[in-house]
Amino acid sequence: MNKIQMKTPLVEMDGDEMTRILWQRIKEELILPFVDLKSEYYDLGLPNRDATADQVTIDAALATKKYGVAVKCATITPNAQRMEEYQLHEMWKSPNGTIRAMLDGTVFRSPILIDAVHPAVRSWEKPITIARHAYGDIYKNVEIRTQEPGRCELVFTGESGNKITKLVQELDGPGVFQGVHNKEASIRSFANAVFTYALSVKQDVWFGAKDTISKTYDGAFKEIMAEVFEDYKERFEEAGITYFYTLIDDAIARVIRSKGGFIWACKNYDGDVMSDMVATAFGSLAMMTSVLVSPDGVYEYEASHGTVTRHYYRYLKGEKTSTNPMATIFAWTGALKKRSEMDGIKELEHFAETLEKSCLNVLNSGIMTKDLVMLADPACVTKEVLTEDFLRDIRQELEKNL
Ligand code: NAP
Ligand code: MG
Repeated sequence: MNKIQMKTPLVEMDGDEMTRILWQRIKEELILPFVDLKSEYYDLGLPNRDATADQVTIDAALATKKYGVAVKCATITPNAQRMEEYQLHEMWKSPNGTIRAMLDGTVFRSPILIDAVHPAVRSWEKPITIARHAYGDIYKNVEIRTQEPGRCELVFTGESGNKITKLVQELDGPGVFQGVHNKEASIRSFANAVFTYALSVKQDVWFGAKDTISKTYDGAFKEIMAEVFEDYKERFEEAGITYFYTLIDDAIARVIRSKGGFIWACKNYDGDVMSDMVATAFGSLAMMTSVLVSPDGVYEYEASHGTVTRHYYRYLKGEKTSTNPMATIFAWTGALKKRSEMDGIKELEHFAETLEKSCLNVLNSGIMTKDLVMLADPACVTKEVLTEDFLRDIRQELEKNL
């Protein structure tokens, strides 16, 4: 069989631990036999990030900007314990954080649905995609805890010298205070990323905030989203999709009663919390796809779970594991599909779609990894498999369907 040719390289970011092992196996078993893979490889594994003083992460983000599409393996975000384990020179920052900041992107996460796993919310029939604004709010806050009575003020000093002072609260005893901010430019990019993505997948957008209570802060989000939407209004009408704003509590109630099939745009904290709720209600993190989209149309695909450390330690002892490769496979297919769309390579698109379909066929035939067996309707399970057997079954199915 002739391998499918590519035009532009895909930016490939390798990672750590069990997902690094999966990465290699997925490539060997499911990609390389079929595609003459053109990739620009960056090793974001922790040892190489340490050896390059994290320059490799920056280079990978720059390459993503240059080529437009990347696929990323899960990576370790170092903490004190990892400093010791890997003898690191520094506690390097989260690569995802670095890349997100450089691409100014929004993260979209959606579940992969299979017949055997029923969402905990019975009305959900289609995936719900969470679009999380990933800048500011409490993630860049300053906090004070006090032990005596006193007053706390919020002071803004403009470049012009203009000062705005507001009393936060005067307290007669110990208390806590918090200062948060956001940037108008960042909210605007978020809005652009969300509306652009919605057009590409032809799904409605919902956005909720608490502008009745936070009239200025959340009010700014509501206002800027509406303003940016004006540029998309016509294209939304043509695509037959809508933008809907409501209060965040009302949004949550409606999400639970909905059938799914839309994009739920969330402020940073809401997105953090609600994506875990949605992922769990749909099944598992190993069945979530995740893509970072920049406002200028750069895409980075990844799995939303971590490096599955516990499985890796077992792997190091020579044990075989039943680690679910779905999210990582779908990161590859997502990236290949986007690449084929940009370069107009029909065979590549067909390949990526067939690979996705083959994975689902295997799962829907009742063959699944342990994490899914534990969630699935027992009547739908025919066999619990190790990762390598699962990949082999997908390979067979893929060859049958291609
Ligand atoms: P994790 O790697 O997602 O794993 C947590 C647990 O979830 C696993 O122990 C496993 O449960 C289950 N699990 C996750 N993915 C699975 C899969 N594909 N197949 C089967 N089971 C799966 O999270 P973590 O243990 O909190 O973090 C490990 C490392 O990943 C950390 O160093 C963290 O910094 C990093 N991390 C990276 C990313 C990223 O790069 N996107 C995201 C999150 C975390 P059982 O052990 O019970 O089977
Ligand atoms: Mg979270």
